Amino acid sequence: MLVNGQTRVLGIFGDPVEHTLSPGMQNAVFEANHLNWIYLPFHVKPGELKKAVAGIKAFDMLGVNVTIPHKEKVVRHLDEVDGLANVIGAVNTIVNVEGRLIGYNTDGYGYVESLREETGFDAAGKNIVILGAGGAGRAILFTFLYNKKNAARSVVIANRTLRRAKRLVDEFKDKVGGAPLVAASLDKVDAHLAGADILINATSVGMMGKGEVNVGLKELPGHAIVSDIVYRPLETTLLKKAKARGLKIHGGLGMLAHQGALSFELFTLTLFPRPPLPIDIMKRAAIKALGTDLQ
Ligand code: NAP
Repeated sequence: MLVNGQTRVLGIFGDPVEHTLSPGMQNAVFEANHLNWIYLPFHVKPGELKKAVAGIKAFDMLGVNVTIPHKEKVVRHLDEVDGLANVIGAVNTIVNVEGRLIGYNTDGYGYVESLREETGFDAAGKNIVILGAGGAGRAILFTFLYNKKNAARSVVIANRTLRRAKRLVDEFKDKVGGAPLVAASLDKVDAHLAGADILINATSVGMMGKGEVNVGLKELPGHAIVSDIVYRPLETTLLKKAKARGLKIHGGLGMLAHQGALSFELFTLTLFPRPPLPIDIMKRAAIKALGTDLQ
């Protein structure tokens, strides 16, 4: 990679930021598309977020991704927020369009696209059970229900802290209205599995091989998909058990690649012709980073 006076700078703001896979994924795509761009990790502490966002304009950066813990707080510092990101209440991608900072959220679409690509799943008329009401759970939930044309038949959102799941259900009903949503406690979720078409783990349980979500997979119908957004390890204990039961599985790598690819697509808004979505390059770069880092 040659860095010179014309190199455009992009990056990711997070605290911590050391473990992000995004620089490896985005720089691999920039290189494959012969773009004189560089993507860097920026350790931005919570008290410095406003100044860091001002820096996007000051340094004429093309855009940035935003990760924990800034996705919600960053919204107030932007000039414009896309409709879905507004409903979700969180931004993970900021694009600098001639000095105007526009916020997007690619996490939910990244998930839904990867699920569709790998399993053919279409939410229309389906019963969905999501474990986890944190940032990722909320992005997935809102994305599934935002598009009314293929809205699910029912969604159960089960969380260890029941009141957080209830808050999410109330908030969704306020923002979008009329959704067939039920909040449940994680330890009582088995009662909702018999009619489920998909079970999605959006908690951090199972990350780095630690812990295991305690759900009764035997309750699921034989056609159900089990999906886990955790990507360290690529195949969690939950997925191994689902596979052993003969269920179709979907892991977290696809979401990672798709959310990154959609961010890249947004960064290239001003380029014509636009590069194709670089899913495979993203996946290969993520696997390489995971392999050298942690597995
Ligand atoms: P978050 O906002 O911190 O939420 C964490 C969620 O996990 C909450 O629902 C929390 O429940 C639950 N949880 C944590 N420890 C638990 C335990 N011991 N038992 C039961 N539930 C527990 O995190 P997030 O941003 O949503 O991320 C969640 C996971 O998704 C992480 O592993 C992250 O790496 C992964 N992720 C993957 C992708 C991808 O591209 N594949 C993208 C985003 C996130 P409480 O509310 O009760 O605390």
